[in-house]
Amino acid sequence: MDTLKIVLAPDPFLREQCEPCEIGDPTLKPLANKMTNTMYANHGCGLAAPQVGVKKRIIVVDCDDPENNPNPIVLVNPEIIALDGSPVKEEEGCLSCPGISVPVTRQPFARVRYYDLDGNECTIEGEDLLGRCLQHEIDHLNGKTLFESCNALDRIRAIHEYKQALARGAKPGEVE
Ligand SMILES: [Zn+2]
Repeated sequence: MDTLKIVLAPDPFLREQCEPCEIGDPTLKPLANKMTNTMYANHGCGLAAPQVGVKKRIIVVDCDDPENNPNPIVLVNPEIIALDGSPVKEEEGCLSCPGISVPVTRQPFARVRYYDLDGNECTIEGEDLLGRCLQHEIDHLNGKTLFESCNALDRIRAIHEYKQALARGAKPGEVE
């Protein structure tokens, strides 16, 4: 299976703004395939292009039951058009920050407009895990990692824990 290498924080590449995809670009399908394989191989429920070294606005998510019933959704140029609900603070992991989880406060509901790989305009609505995952992956497209999404106090602890995780050789998909 064709997988890609995951870019790990604090690589400055993860802090860059990604560029919009050209709708109908034929290179997007093979890229999306490789991203999907990479997400599953590392037991993630979402992956954004910058995490595999590509500065384009494309993400893949699968929050249902990826191990038993894979159903990947590829979102090209995704854009949050609505957030709703009282903010909830919950631990998030990230394939680019192996070995740690970080509490991030987000609204539970997200509505996202995007293009599919055939260039059709689509909308997806997600609540709880999917709502959170969509927001997390779109953050990546804007150069935001877990360390930028959490509050200042949690960031200090997260950076400390992350240094320890890297020192013991934590791999993507591992959450302590
Ligand atoms: Zn992430």
